[in-house]
Amino acid sequence: MSITMDQPDQASKLSPPGASCRFCGSQLRHTFTDLGMSPPCESFLSADQLNRMEAFYPLHVFVCEHCFLVQLQEYISPEHIFTEYAYFSSYSDSWLAHAKAYTDLMVERFKLGRDSLAVELASNDGYLLQYFVEKGVPVLGIEPAVNVAREAAKKGIPTLVKFFGKEMAAEMLRDGVQADLIVGNNVLAEVPDVRSFVAGMKTLLKPQGVITLEFPHLMRLMEGNQFDTIYHEHFSYFSFLTTMRIMSEFALTVFDVEELTTHGGSLRVYARHAQDTSHPVTERARDLAEREEQAGFTRLQTYFSFDEKVKETKRRILSFMIDAKAAGKSIAGYGAPGKGNTLLNYCAIRGDFLDYTVDRNPYKHGKFLPGTHVPIFPPEKIRETRPDYVLILPWNLKNEIREQLSYIREWGGKFVVPIPRVEVF
Ligand SMILES: [Zn+2]
Repeated sequence: MSITMDQPDQASKLSPPGASCRFCGSQLRHTFTDLGMSPPCESFLSADQLNRMEAFYPLHVFVCEHCFLVQLQEYISPEHIFTEYAYFSSYSDSWLAHAKAYTDLMVERFKLGRDSLAVELASNDGYLLQYFVEKGVPVLGIEPAVNVAREAAKKGIPTLVKFFGKEMAAEMLRDGVQADLIVGNNVLAEVPDVRSFVAGMKTLLKPQGVITLEFPHLMRLMEGNQFDTIYHEHFSYFSFLTTMRIMSEFALTVFDVEELTTHGGSLRVYARHAQDTSHPVTERARDLAEREEQAGFTRLQTYFSFDEKVKETKRRILSFMIDAKAAGKSIAGYGAPGKGNTLLNYCAIRGDFLDYTVDRNPYKHGKFLPGTHVPIFPPEKIRETRPDYVLILPWNLKNEIREQLSYIREWGGKFVVPIPRVEVF
């Protein structure tokens, strides 16, 4: 890398005028990566929508030169994305197991009982809070999507249908509501006003309460070249150091952290009031902060290397596709995840390379991928058409999928994984 802090503009495009960091307010001047224009990754199309106009928004990610928060502008409002949300957490067995293990750990470690209150922000359909209820711990969910909140209510999980922020927390405090445990799983990244959100948690937390937040770890995203996990719904991408900085701005101290394998590599951070000394800062929190420091997460040029890696990955994926098609091979996809849509749109892979994709979710059958218009079929289509290659779009599940689809070996079929680099096996 020859780029230095003195010549940042050589490496970065200028952002639109007025774009500023959602945490510290500095002007955003430096590109982290630019994936071009893409439709919202969950906006699957039906056949009658194929000839209509489709909304595309920039996937241009910036890094703040002051606080190093990696971020997308709010191109689409969360009201638009989340008020009628198609994702129900309870449909995923592995995610339920993750939630159950988490509640066991919290009840044990923080001695939660019938006098405690566990509040989850973005509580979805109550997939997690139900396990606290089983253990006799009172709960409260906060969830902006009306349709999923309704499912939670059916399970007996009290749920407020609202976007959480400092005003809502102040109202709750006035009503005498404060939490022993505040849970935020995969929500921090999806909040445009991160300051209001963290200020709200500060208000809602009891003097000896604990906050836990889970989110994809920026270090893993960069190491694993996981640019396809960038979506319009994810406004922010956090390092551990930047998370500590944001929390400390609101007099919250991060005292512990766990590195998880979920979503390609996530962090679970633990925070408390700065003046509460009952939970000393752990060795593993100090260790991760140190590792990020060593890896250069407090230097701007570290972030500039990512964009070139992304472009190189695109070229390699396309080289593979072009060679395969030139040799007369057929390629089918497996899965229709959000990350697949980011990847295919950025690489401009449409029906010219990919005949179709399949998915186990019946809601997606007969529909088409946003932007690329690749049709989605049930998984049986693969056995019927015997493609030479199956491109695994949810690469985080590659071992599971390889087993489920081992029958493609009958006709000499091979699997292809695009991330972190093209791999054929
Ligand atoms: Zn900033």
